[in-house]
Amino acid sequence: LYVEHPLGAGQSIPLTKEQAHYLFGVMRQRLGGAVALFNGSDGEWQAEVTEAGKRGGTLTCRVQSKPLQMPPDLWLIFAPIKKARTDFIVEKAAEMGAARILPVGTEYTNSERIRQDRLQAHAVEAAEQCGGTYVPQVADLQKLSQLLDHWPAERQLMFCDEAEVGNALQLAAQDHKDAPWAILIGPEGGFSEKERKRLHAMAQSHVVSLGPRILRADTAAVAAMTLWQQALGD
Ligand code: SAM
Repeated sequence: LYVEHPLGAGQSIPLTKEQAHYLFGVMRQRLGGAVALFNGSDGEWQAEVTEAGKRGGTLTCRVQSKPLQMPPDLWLIFAPIKKARTDFIVEKAAEMGAARILPVGTEYTNSERIRQDRLQAHAVEAAEQCGGTYVPQVADLQKLSQLLDHWPAERQLMFCDEAEVGNALQLAAQDHKDAPWAILIGPEGGFSEKERKRLHAMAQSHVVSLGPRILRADTAAVAAMTLWQQALGD
């Protein structure tokens, strides 16, 4: 269970109405029951149900069961598409171990708005479901051009471009094994010529093909993260 409280031995965690409903109504937990907790920064803790009610309750932290497992320093940058597909990208990025998820507006981006809080909640759920102890942060929507204006010199970029053939990742992986990385996936309409030129010209950019077919952006995000994990993940 994800909670927004510091975790440590003896720490009392008050439950919200929704958490109490989930634990006592859905999961059939009772007084004295054991619940695994994480908050994204203190690892996983085993807690005991010390108060149980319809509208609330309290958990008391006992022992740490997992230390915080930080994912590699990987950003997933993507242009938001339809709501359900954007949700899917955030969920899969969190499952696959992105450290940060950055929605960007590009020249051909379909959707100009996102609900950052909703997307963050999806990231929490995904971390919860795959037993992670870390929750990736979902950034607010920003312009791709502005992100590139302030690009950190050491961060390498896996630029997924369907107009390319080869795959520069294997080679780049040898030279930049310990560097922070980012994966960039374009919108349904792809990148504009201006954007492609700029991305190709970046010193940190490694252009990668995901195969001969044009993948939908949500499929491309999962495929790209899989390739990256294989070449550079733990
Ligand atoms: N520009 C394309 C068009 O309208 O024909 C489609 C873009 S594709 C649906 C969305 C994004 O997924 C692309 O910008 C790219 O980042 C990524 N992508 C899809 N297929 C790919 C492939 N075979 N290789 C590399 N990237 C791919």
